[in-house]
Amino acid sequence: MQAQPADLIVDNVRVHTGNPKQPRATAIAVRGTRFLYVGDDPSRHVGSSTRRINANNGVLIAGFIDSHGHMAGLGDLLESLNFRGVKSTAAVAEMVRGAAQTRPKGEWIKGRAWDQTEWGGAFPTAEILDKAAPDHPIYLSRVDGHAAWVNTRALERADIQRQTPDPAGGKIYRDGSGKATGILIDRAQGLVASKIRARTPEQIERAISLAAQECVRFGITSVHDAGIGSGELAAYRSLILKGKLPVRVYAMIGGAGNLWNEYLKKGPELSEKLTVRSVKLVSDGAMGSRGAAFLQPYADDAKNSGLLILSGAEIEKIARQAIERGFQVNTHAIGDRANRTVLEAYKAVLGGKNDRRFRIEHAQVVDPSDIKLFAENSIIASIQSTHATSDMRWAESRLGKARLAGAWLAQTFLAAGVPIANGSDFPVEETNPLLGFYAAVTRQDASGNPPGGFLPKEKLTRDQALRSWTLGGAYAAFEEAEKGSIEVGKLADFVILSEDLTRTAEVRLTVVGGEIVYQAR
Ligand SMILES: [Zn+2]
Repeated sequence: MQAQPADLIVDNVRVHTGNPKQPRATAIAVRGTRFLYVGDDPSRHVGSSTRRINANNGVLIAGFIDSHGHMAGLGDLLESLNFRGVKSTAAVAEMVRGAAQTRPKGEWIKGRAWDQTEWGGAFPTAEILDKAAPDHPIYLSRVDGHAAWVNTRALERADIQRQTPDPAGGKIYRDGSGKATGILIDRAQGLVASKIRARTPEQIERAISLAAQECVRFGITSVHDAGIGSGELAAYRSLILKGKLPVRVYAMIGGAGNLWNEYLKKGPELSEKLTVRSVKLVSDGAMGSRGAAFLQPYADDAKNSGLLILSGAEIEKIARQAIERGFQVNTHAIGDRANRTVLEAYKAVLGGKNDRRFRIEHAQVVDPSDIKLFAENSIIASIQSTHATSDMRWAESRLGKARLAGAWLAQTFLAAGVPIANGSDFPVEETNPLLGFYAAVTRQDASGNPPGGFLPKEKLTRDQALRSWTLGGAYAAFEEAEKGSIEVGKLADFVILSEDLTRTAEVRLTVVGGEIVYQAR
């Protein structure tokens, strides 16, 4: 039988397939959107129009699946100008001028992290920004978030005039005549910040497009967008129509509101680029701000045990609707009380082993007696390994020692038979999945602290960590037959790295469905 010619062959490469039946290979071939061949001798598949890539002994793995990120939020962050380390107001003005050229007049320009001590200590003025971008309102946060530098358009939008009083807890800087100079301190920032309008459809689309490019730059080929509204949905549709969405998106509907009700009527939407078959609920807040719901009070705040945002009964009701219409439920739960509430609500509707693949997002602190509820009801723990190493600084003061036994679990979940998926929660954490991989394997921060790792028995092996970033994410989206490993017949979503997975490995090439979507220069 004549072998089929490939569109793309990559050889001289160390392939970590993620397929236990054939863990290693040195070449792959792609035809159309899928893998045609995985092995050591692709020569039978060389055709007259086959493109060949010699990977120079790089490492090829399945594309990363980030199981929990926020695309529009990442895009907003990427779009906002970053003045960290910028040494003059002229340089700030130049960046603002550049931004003004790329967006319509009247649209807000946002920036962050300026620091007047970089240029001698004098606070800058609205005038500098007025000259750079006279037709755009501008809002630039100081590096500590306690001051904003705005231009005249922004002062006008907020109707700040000579007679406007300083708000309680805030100060409007003024010249000798009482006119605002463009610096707003603390609560005075809100006068302008509250006027920054909701994003337009074009802005959302631009933000998501930027975020998608950022993802593929880091080797992410699929993202689970953890809570979208109709604006994001429209942006995804538009980008797909234009052929401008390089990454695949598994979108969770944000909350049980109008969009959820629409989808309940029409049922899940499945396609190769965009899938909508889940709802994202939020059962409590975050631990840093002591909003996460615990069974016992915070160790550093004896009267406060946080707050439940949704009751078990509410979660149960939505979960029943979801099951009836073929949807998955993914609920944010941080504290042990929130986790227990969600687990019990899920259990009430799932009633034992099943293939609904309900998820708990974060699953950060679980009472050890509740861990079995995950496995017994086939519930997925959707974890973020970098949260462990970011939050460890204050973990023990918030939780006390005893509760750490159920905190930031990973290996314990696997040992208990709980499927895990890994993610970054970008833009809360860095987008780069290699940092998540590193945190999962070492439980250390970027400087190698603490020695031996934070809660080190939760370290994952390299294989487990990679799996949590590939097949684990695929499974959490019902897509393990399509992606997550390098196997003939699966979608050709892969990454070539400069070296084995380490914090400093570089992404050389990212391919989604056989198409090169990122190539390092
Ligand atoms: Zn999130």
